[in-house]
Amino acid sequence: MNKLNLICLFLLMIVTDLFANNSDFYKSGREILGEMVAIESTEAMGLASTVSEYAGTVLLDNGFTSADIEVVGPTEEAKGLYAIYRGQSSAEPVIVMAHIDVVPAVKESWITDPFKMTEIDGFLHGRGTSDNKAGAAGLIATFAKLRAEGFIPKNDIIMLLTGDEETGMQSIRYFRENYKNVQNAAFALNSDGGYLTGTMDDPEAFRLQSAEKVYFSVTLTAKNRGGHSSIPRKDNAIYDLADAIKKIQQFNFPISLNQTTRATLEFSMKDANDSEKSEMNMILNGIQKDYKLLEKDPEMNALTRTTCVATKLEGGHAENALPVSATATVNCRLLPQDDSDEVLSIIRGLAGDEIVVSPITNVRKSPASPITDEIVELISSSIDTTFPGLPIVPTMSTGATDAIELRSNGVPVYGTSAMMTDPTGYRGHGLNERIEITAFNATLDFWYALMKQL
Ligand SMILES: [Zn+2]
Repeated sequence: MNKLNLICLFLLMIVTDLFANNSDFYKSGREILGEMVAIESTEAMGLASTVSEYAGTVLLDNGFTSADIEVVGPTEEAKGLYAIYRGQSSAEPVIVMAHIDVVPAVKESWITDPFKMTEIDGFLHGRGTSDNKAGAAGLIATFAKLRAEGFIPKNDIIMLLTGDEETGMQSIRYFRENYKNVQNAAFALNSDGGYLTGTMDDPEAFRLQSAEKVYFSVTLTAKNRGGHSSIPRKDNAIYDLADAIKKIQQFNFPISLNQTTRATLEFSMKDANDSEKSEMNMILNGIQKDYKLLEKDPEMNALTRTTCVATKLEGGHAENALPVSATATVNCRLLPQDDSDEVLSIIRGLAGDEIVVSPITNVRKSPASPITDEIVELISSSIDTTFPGLPIVPTMSTGATDAIELRSNGVPVYGTSAMMTDPTGYRGHGLNERIEITAFNATLDFWYALMKQL
């Protein structure tokens, strides 16, 4: 055998070894995911604590000690997992997080048992396979692999698995209020936010979730002296309320961009036609007007402004009586830079003096997390092994995850699920939730490459 052949053989051995290691890694990630899916951790079943205990056991079996792990939470049912991967320094720890509760599944309507992970045509089906047990399994498998390799991070890595993200978010608040490491974290990476667009063969972008809109609901109530419906008057609680909510329907909150939504909009320009492009340019330049683009694209509209919409209605007390009261609930989603008091006073102004407007949500401000070069570099170098050169596009969610509870405490949070969108569209919370096996493996590679840099 000549020298060149020897080198080739040596290289082949390295590649084969790498592949073998990775296939073990993928296999263990998948096993952990399957075990977690099998525990029905819905609110009604109250079993998030069981998933946390299971996750703790896996870490104990893989080189972590009981001093590194706590299964704790605000209630018996919603216990989460706090696990620490000790680094060279305990200053400025980095949080990696996932939630392990799931929304219910109507078993009869699924093609598989939602609580038994099943492989069909290259996809793993089951409740939580994408939201968010895949994320949790990825974090656990990565901790185990790094520990087996003797890796020691520069800073402590804190893993938080939370027990009630879908319902109350008390679990993340519990960690926030009781753990110094959570309060002092340099930043957090949330596997429950962000995603990849495109397909596994043709990826388009890494959507890095760096902001979330803030939830804020109010009620509008109209009161009236009432009377007999056989002698109606023009003043009427139901009509008065209808007038008020009509005003809210017609009103558009001012357009306002932040660093995140500006970057999203700039990226969207590449697929836009000329007239859309010119509108996008005007939006980017801060020009307030009624844009066709925002009228026909509710998602884009929700990204560029605070929105408020009527969601519930009740009123009247008898078929044959003039109503003495009527109430509507209006749900607002505030841009992180907008202020709830200002929104409230705008709604009061629209509704008029006769309508009582009362907030029913306590709002905590939750600012967008800054997109720094350091974060972008960390993400791009971690995804590069799987998808070289993938653009990193900051994204704001219109809904909220656990992340909002840390951002409101001054900890920047980045949603970095690195999970490719399902080719048929997002199925989390819906029927036949699933994850493509290659996409799941890619998230494992991503977390591994990322944590190695921490
Ligand atoms: Zn989720």
